[in-house]
Parts: sequence; structure tokens; C-alpha cells
Amino acid sequence: MEKDQAKGLAYRILDLSEQAMFVFSKDDFQIIYANPKAKAIFGDRMASLTCFEGVEMKQTPCLDCPFLGLQEGQEYFADRYLESFDMKISMKANGLIWEDGTNVVLCTILDSEALLLARMRKSMAPEPYEERLRLSGELYQTVVSQLGTMVFEYNYEKRTSYTSPLFKEKFGIEDIEDIDFLSSDKTKALIYAEDVEIYEMMFLNREDDFREVTCRFVEADGKVNWYRICVQFMRNENEELIRVIGTLKDVDDITKSYETLKYRSQFDVLTSLPNVNRFYIDAGCQLLEQEGDKYAIVSFDIDKFKLINDLFGMETGDDVLKHVASVIKEKLPVDALYCRVHSDMFFFCISYNKRGEIIKLIEKLRKGIYRNEFSFDINTTFGIYLVNDVSIPINLMCDRATLAARTVKGSAMNFCAFYDEQYRAEIIKTTEIEQDMNLAISDKQFLMYLQPKYDLITGHICGAEVLSRWKHPVKGLIQPNDFIPLFERNGFILRLDEYMWEEACKTLANWQSEGKVPVPLSVNISRYHIKNNNLVKVWKHLIQKYSIPTSYLTLEITETFFYDSEDLYEVLTELQAMGFRLEVDDFGAGYSSLNMIRHIPVDTIKIDKDFLDKKLATDKGKIVISHTIAMAKDLKLSVVAEGVETKEHVEFLKSSSCDVAQGFFFAKPMPLEEFNQLYYGVESNR
Ligand code: C2E
Ligand code: MG
Ligand code: MG
Repeated sequence: MEKDQAKGLAYRILDLSEQAMFVFSKDDFQIIYANPKAKAIFGDRMASLTCFEGVEMKQTPCLDCPFLGLQEGQEYFADRYLESFDMKISMKANGLIWEDGTNVVLCTILDSEALLLARMRKSMAPEPYEERLRLSGELYQTVVSQLGTMVFEYNYEKRTSYTSPLFKEKFGIEDIEDIDFLSSDKTKALIYAEDVEIYEMMFLNREDDFREVTCRFVEADGKVNWYRICVQFMRNENEELIRVIGTLKDVDDITKSYETLKYRSQFDVLTSLPNVNRFYIDAGCQLLEQEGDKYAIVSFDIDKFKLINDLFGMETGDDVLKHVASVIKEKLPVDALYCRVHSDMFFFCISYNKRGEIIKLIEKLRKGIYRNEFSFDINTTFGIYLVNDVSIPINLMCDRATLAARTVKGSAMNFCAFYDEQYRAEIIKTTEIEQDMNLAISDKQFLMYLQPKYDLITGHICGAEVLSRWKHPVKGLIQPNDFIPLFERNGFILRLDEYMWEEACKTLANWQSEGKVPVPLSVNISRYHIKNNNLVKVWKHLIQKYSIPTSYLTLEITETFFYDSEDLYEVLTELQAMGFRLEVDDFGAGYSSLNMIRHIPVDTIKIDKDFLDKKLATDKGKIVISHTIAMAKDLKLSVVAEGVETKEHVEFLKSSSCDVAQGFFFAKPMPLEEFNQLYYGVESNR
């Protein structure tokens, strides 16, 4: 914006201000600018006077002027007694440099309206009524034309009133002269019915005779408009009311935008439910005020709401939210507090006696939401936090209810769950792991541990299983059971597995290049690789990159593979054809049978450690295991037993002709360096 333009705009803003504002020079106290409100109060001539003449009505500068020390950019507030008005007023002063380079003070009178009324009172008081009207005509004119403010007066002694022309024009009242202007029924009839109570607040007995209210008036053409009405009651020496004068200002635009803002800051525009800020305040207060009662915070959302939006469009999504809001209003008890948090998430707070009541209420809500006019079902999931310590911040309680909703899957009731401290710890742990996992790969925090496999005939190491460990910089060494199940759920297992396979290939390649006979390594393959369809491609790439024979690698697949993949047969056949050995991990832990495995191209079964543990405890169990081993051999499968912990285990497995054993009895999983020591008897120089 051009400088001159900016200056023009600045003046306009000052001119429009509701407060009286003027600027005086610090050098000679000359007033160099006064806005219309200031002129209305202090007179048009003020702009040619000094501040002490124009404002204080004095002949000499005020010795106690608080503003002279103000530097540019500084702001100062002061209360000042104006002798000429016999009033104490609040003023604000800003130090500025005026456009001609002079150091000036910009004064803003914060009680301008009261001062204006005092001025009117002052200028009118001594003259007879008609005379005063004539004398003050100029003043009224200024106020009415420059500020768009209507003025009025009622004289209780003479029972006469005066209103400026605009008033008559707006409200269509002609015979105003002889009515008790403020409290007459005729005037009250101008007030919008809902606001009469606010309007009447003006007449409450108070010490102070200056009153100000904002309420809606109905104009002559039926339009409802917001007005700010300021009045000054005047009394005689016996404290009897003699006159009242006041102003009426159209504040419709400003009030409406304020009301809208206020509404938006507390309500959700789409559903008209309170928003979460409002809920936090209301529910927080309710919990603190009624410490004796039992309360629950419930959080819920719509299942697959995104899908509804995607399939049926945002408008339908909005209609669903409105439907939910209407059910909330209808089904929740009258004293319940509720809100839409965002998107499809809602909170409510209710009092209860027994937990069952909460569930019943939730069922009512669910049914109400489910039964709808849409062409699809709307299901909801609820989390409940029972408030037992009101000192916990309300937002934390709501977070806990939301957390509980995440535990619904797998809970006894499939639509709601109560908050549980232990689960919270788990979720936090999970979230932390998920935050750290990507960095962990690039930071090489995943370590390859090797657990030797022993040939039960020779007693020598005949292979080793690659198992991952996470060396977390803060949490220390984390075991696979704490991250593998999570990675399987979030898909990260694909990256981790490929990383571990590459580590295994590197190790084999290093052994080769060091002239050692590599120990065959088994790697775990998560079943998600089959779904991902990339398995063969990845392995071809690794074998090529590290130039290692596939015969050094056993791929361990769990039996869960067999349930859910149609492509499994082809993938395994191809891998077997490439020369990999295929091993069924955790055999016996699930439902796989040898009969099932018969049709799948595998070379080895690895009996699960739990299976071994449980079965070896009884004679019948022993028979099951030895028969399983025998039948596997009949099918030309070799047999590995894992979780071999005791000498008895070893003896039994040997007597049952099991080929290979892996377990703590022989060795625990160990870092590569340790394995190198154990097997090759030297430090690795990888
Ligand atoms: P798994 O493949 O069945 O591996 C055998 C697990 O049994 C290993 O647990 C091993 O430490 C443990 N184990 C071995 N001998 C004994 C014993 O005598 N007694 C007992 N009680 N346990 C024994 P770990 O290393 O904790 O791994 C657990 C599971 O995590 C593994 O079971 C495997 O399914 C999975 N896993 C580990 N690393 C990876 C990986 O890089 N990728 C994939 N997909 N899964 C992995
Ligand atoms: Mg395994
Ligand atoms: Mg296993």
C-alpha cells in the first residue's frame, strides 16, 4: 500500500473510532488532530487549541501531565480528573512520531460515551428546555450525522421528551413528545420480545446513573436490529430523577459477527452440538462441582466413516453426522453433556450408579444410530472411562475413553470397552515402537542373533536360525515377541524380514570369502510376504547380489501360511526349485497335520517348543510325538525339534529318530561374533 494511502486509512480509522481521540505535540501542546467524537465532547474548536485549553479548559499547561515522558512506541494508561466535567476518566496515551516528524502523544479517552453524555448534560442544564434545544442543536447534529448515533432525552418534571429525527425515522414514532420515553409500554413495544428482560436491566436501582445495554429493537419496517443504548439519569439535589438523556447506536453488524464468532467458538456448526472446548469446560466444572456422584466419560466414533464418505460422498457423510447428533440429543439423559470432537468422533459425560446402566444407555444410542434412513448400516464403537479421580484433567479422561475404544476389537462386548490401565501402558509402548521403527532400520539397531541347530546323531552344529533383536538406544535390547506381532499388524515386518535376510546373506558371503565352509542359515519368513507376492523376486535379487548358493539357506514358514494363501503352492514350488530348503516352523502349535503338509512342497518340519513341552509331560503325549516324527520320516521330511531344554528332551528325541535339535540345552540365540567363536573358534572379521 502507498504511504499516503496508508496515512489516509489511518485517519479514517481514527475518525470512525467510538472513543474520543486526539493528538497533541509534545513541544508546544498544540492539538494537531481530533476525531469527531473528541470534537463532539470538547467542541469543534479544540483542534485549534492546546491540550490544556481544549481538554482541561486551563490557561497553562498541566504540571502533572503524565504523558510528556512517553517515548515513541510506548503506551501509558492513566486516570485523570477533568475539572471542567467534574469527572474522573480513564485515558490511554501512545507516544508517536507524527507525519511531519514531531513527537506527539495520541490520547484515547476510554470513557468517551459517559463524557459525551456529561457534555450534553452540561451544555443543556442551565437553559430553558426550548432554548437548550436550540443551543445544542449543533451538537446533536454533529453526533447524529457524524457518528450515526441517535440521541434522546426525557424530562420527568415537564414530562416532555426529545428524540433526534433519525429515531423517528427508524422507529416510526411521531408523537414522542409526551411519553415517558424509556419505560413506557410504547417504547418497550419496540424491543424484540426475547430481549425485553435485558432492556429492563437498565431500570434496576443502582448507585451509578450511567447505564448501558445492548439489545435488539424492531424497526418500523419490521427489521430486527441490534442497538447499544447508553443513558445517563440526572437527579436534583434531593436525589429525585429529573431527566434522562441517552444515545442509541446501531451495532447490528458488529454484534452479529461477535455472536457468530462466539457461537463458533463453542458449537459445531454442522451438528449444532457443543464443540470439544465447550465440553471440556462444562464437563470439567460438572465433575468438580459434584464430587459425590459417579461419572463416566464416553468416547465413540462411527466405524469406517471414511468409507461412507468415499462411497456415498461428503454430503451423505454430513447427513450421517447430523443423524448421530439428533440421536445423541434424543437418547442421552437431560443432564448429560456431549460434544462433537471432530470428524466422526463424539464425547459425552453422564452420571451413573452401576456400570450396567452405562452399557444400556450405549446400547440405546447404538440402536438409535444404527436404525436410519440411509441405504447402509451405521455401526459405532464406544470407549468408557469411569471417573475416579476428578483432579485428572478432563482432556486426559477423554483421551483415556478414546483409548478404551481402541481396545474394543477382541473385547468381550464387540462395541464397547472400559478403560484399563494395563492396556494403556501397552498402547503407549506400541505407539513408541511405531514411532521408532523406521529410524531403527536405517540406524542399524536391528541385530542378527544366531541360534545353533545340532545334528542329533553327530552332536555337531549343522545350521543356525537367524533371529532378530532390537538394540534400542534408550530401551535396551528388545526381544522379538515385543515387536514382531506389532510389525505383523502394521506391515513393517516386510521391511524387517528383508533386512534380516540380507544380514543372513551378507554373513554367508563373508564366511565364503573368508574361506570358511558356511553354516546353513535358517531365516523366518512372515506370511505377509506371500500375500505381498514379492518373495521370489526378493530372494533372486539377494542370491545374485551376494553370490551364495541357495542350499545354504532354509526358509522357515509358519503353518499359518497354509490357511490363507492360494498362491502358496506356486511360490513354495518355485523357491524349492531354486534350491532353498523349506521348513514348516512351529509345527503342532496350530491345526496343521502331516496330511495337510503332504500336498505342500516342504523339506522339514520343526516341532514347536510348546508342543514338545506339553506332549513330553505325559506318556500319551510322548507317543504322539514319536509317531509324528515317524510319519514325517515316512513322508521323506526331516524333523527339527525346537525348545529343547533338557537332557531328557534330547534322549527322547534321539530315541524317536529326530534329526536336529535347537534349544537352550545346547545354546541360546547369540550375536554373530559369539557364534563365530563357537563354531569357527575365531573372532569374525566381517
Ligand atoms: P521361532 O521362529 O519359532 O524361533 C524360535 C524361538 O524360540 C526364538 O525366540 C528362540 O529364542 C526361542 N527358543 C529357542 N530355544 C528355546 C528353548 O529352549 N526354550 C525356549 N523357551 N525358547 C527357545 P525369539 O528369538 O524370541 O523369537 C520369537 C519368534 O519371533 C520367533 O519364533 C519367530 O517367529 C519370530 N522372529 C524372530 N525374529 C524374526 C524375524 O527376523 N522375522 C520374522 N518374521 N520373525 C522373527
Ligand atoms: Mg523360526
Ligand atoms: Mg518356532
